[in-house]
Amino acid sequence: VLCISQDFDFFYFVQQWPGAYCDTKHTCCYPKTGKPAADFGIHGLWPNYKDGSYPSNCDPDSVFDKSQLSEIMSSLQKDWPSLSCPSSNGNRFWSHEWEKHGTCSESELDQREYFEAALKLKEKVNLLQILKKAEIVPDDGFYSLDSVVEAIKEAVGFTPGIECNKDSAGHSQIYQIFLCVDTSGSEIIECPVLPKGRCASNVQFAKF
Ligand code: 5GP
Ligand code: 5GP
Ligand code: 5GP
Repeated sequence: VLCISQDFDFFYFVQQWPGAYCDTKHTCCYPKTGKPAADFGIHGLWPNYKDGSYPSNCDPDSVFDKSQLSEIMSSLQKDWPSLSCPSSNGNRFWSHEWEKHGTCSESELDQREYFEAALKLKEKVNLLQILKKAEIVPDDGFYSLDSVVEAIKEAVGFTPGIECNKDSAGHSQIYQIFLCVDTSGSEIIECPVLPKGRCASNVQFAKF
């Protein structure tokens, strides 16, 4: 018997720093709704296994349906902007995230619940404010990776994963912040496994 229901152990809730998406050699394009705020944006809510592997594209029959999201559309545009090129209204990014990741947690969250869960998590954890309180601000300055981890751990109660990329000058910079969330999509938990971060011991926090 073939088992097609894909279970998972936890979610990664992943937020991206727009300054670090845009200042690499790939550059970026602002959404049709305009330049996003200088704030972390949602990248995705990703079902994962405790061993670090993950399921993807679990249900080809569950297509992205933006009519289910009309009430949260303005929140999605604000908190989950797409910065890839060419400029878009976000639908391509949300559709990709739903089909690749969201379809793997359908046993827990339907489409509307999935996007709402991510928006609620973003509201619950204001990363920019947490970092600001620790005097870590997007001023192109360098900060120790430990101080970034500690500031978030102190405020949230759980250790975050920090992923870096490189700006066009080759400097390691904060790109994405991972928090782990239980399978209901609502409670932050200690990460069973942290993502590989690729950060130097001192990291830049780029202006946007
Ligand atoms: P990258 O290779 O840029 O790190 O990741 C490419 C894509 O693979 C991501 O956008 C995401 O869809 C997926 N991905 C990368 N790492 C993970 C992970 O640890 N867990 C899950 N669930 N997806 C991941
Ligand atoms: P890497 O060589 O970095 O481990 O993985 C290369 C690519 O394979 C990544 O961009 C990622 O999207 C994908 N990948 C890595 N591990 C997994 C996994 O456990 N499940 C799936 N579906 N894709 C993976
Ligand atoms: P992933 O597979 O890593 O979850 O998502 C990355 C995919 O979403 C890529 O195909 C990328 O082009 C697209 N994408 C659209 N907008 C964005 C954005 O703002 N940030 C990132 N990281 N990917 C985006």
